[in-house]
This record gives sequence, structure tokens and C-alpha cells, in this order.
Amino acid sequence: MRRKVVAGNWKMHKNYSEAVSLVSDLKNELINENLKCDVIVCPPFTFLEAAHTVVKSSEIQLGAQNMHFEEKGAFTGEVSAEMLKSVGCEYVILGHSERRKIFEESDETINKKVRAALAAGLRPIFCIGETLEEREGGKMFDVLGTQLKEGLKEVDAEGMGKIIVAYEPVWAIGTGKTATPDQAEEAHQFVRKTLGEIFDDGVAEKTVIQYGGSVKPNNAAELLAKENIDGALVGGACLEAESFLEIVRAAP
Ligand code: PEP
Repeated sequence: MRRKVVAGNWKMHKNYSEAVSLVSDLKNELINENLKCDVIVCPPFTFLEAAHTVVKSSEIQLGAQNMHFEEKGAFTGEVSAEMLKSVGCEYVILGHSERRKIFEESDETINKKVRAALAAGLRPIFCIGETLEEREGGKMFDVLGTQLKEGLKEVDAEGMGKIIVAYEPVWAIGTGKTATPDQAEEAHQFVRKTLGEIFDDGVAEKTVIQYGGSVKPNNAAELLAKENIDGALVGGACLEAESFLEIVRAAP
């Protein structure tokens, strides 16, 4: 039985005091709650240490939104996996469609990051997803298959056991358009089948596959009720404690 995992991707939002206040509100609200899912918050780099100070005595886990694949060196402006570990991160979002599109990250770059994160003991939240054009052109399964195969190259079964896959159709991110629960379930079934081909059915069955793309309090429950939807990666709705908590509490 897979435990659901709800993660909040804050993207480039909040200042220091807003960040501390949001994470403190989440902690205080969830402190005596018997959580039905794991909860991860992914603030910007600059607030990770402060967020860690708040959440370390709670069940909330910490993730970053990106990292570089090299261990160290002359990479101005970049942050390594080890640096993220040293400020209390357990997770890192990799391959987000905004990184793929705006920052032109290729499957090869994302694969290097996935492997570097695992080597440093960080758990990747590995994002994949098709554009609207790709979906309408009948290429969705090809695109998802390629992103999975290329992004997970040279990852072994043990490494895969540490990875969360986030299926995020690009057309649903930040647009208010959500995949219907059936559309999402269809993609998740395909992801699980493909993981079975790359690894084996045991690995595929254990892998947590989150859905991301305009998850809101009013649609979370029906998405999370689907058999192969093991959680949510939430953007916009994670920026307010109330809406993020409603999604967390929608986990069956
Ligand atoms: C995301 O950026 O991962 C995301 C799913 O954003 P939103 O929930 O705002 O669509």
C-alpha cells in the first residue's frame, strides 16, 4: 500500500518573514494531527534553512526546487545536492516543466541531476509531462515514455525506490485547467507500466506517482481517490496555509 505524498512547490514566491510565517502556520496546524499522507514543503533556496528550523520538530519534510549536478566548483549561482542536504533537505524537485522550458534543461541534464541527488542521499521528485500540443498530436505516451527512460538512465532499482515521479501535464500547470481524474489516472497507469518495463513490476508498484497541475481544495479529493494517483505536487494552492492544508486533508 503506497502512502500518499503531498508536496508544495513555492516557486519564486514569498519573502523571508512570509516564508517563516507560512511554514510555521503549517506546522502549528498539523502538529497534533494524525496525518494520512506525507507532507513536503519546497521553499526557495534562501528560506530553506529557516524552514528547516521550523519543521525539524514536526512531520513536515523539506525539499528544494532545483540543484546543480556537479558536486562543487566554479558554477556561479548554482547550488549542489550536498549543500541542500546540509540545510536539512530530504527532497529536491527535478525536471519541472518550468526548468525544462524556461531554462532549457534537457532529459540528459535532468538525468545527471537525478543521479547526483541520489548519490548525495537526496530524494528526487522527478517531474514529467506533455504539452497540450503533444497531447492533441497523439504524442503524450511517447513523450512521457522518453522523459522516463532518459531521465532515469543508469538509475538502479534501489535508487528508484527513493524517487517520487510527478506527472504534471504542462497545459495544467498554473492555468487553472486540471486534468480530469480519469485523464490523470490514465497517464499514471502508463507511467507505472513504463516503470515496470524499465525496472520491474515490484519497483513500479512501490513508486509514488504524484499528480500536479492546478490541484486545488475543490478537486484534490477526487484526484487523490484514484488508484494510481499517490499524491499531489501543488503550486499556486500551496502559497496559503489554508488551501494547502485542505489539499493535505483531502488525502483518503
Ligand atoms: C507546479 O508548478 O508544480 C504546479 C503544479 O503548479 P500549479 O498547482 O499552480 O498548477
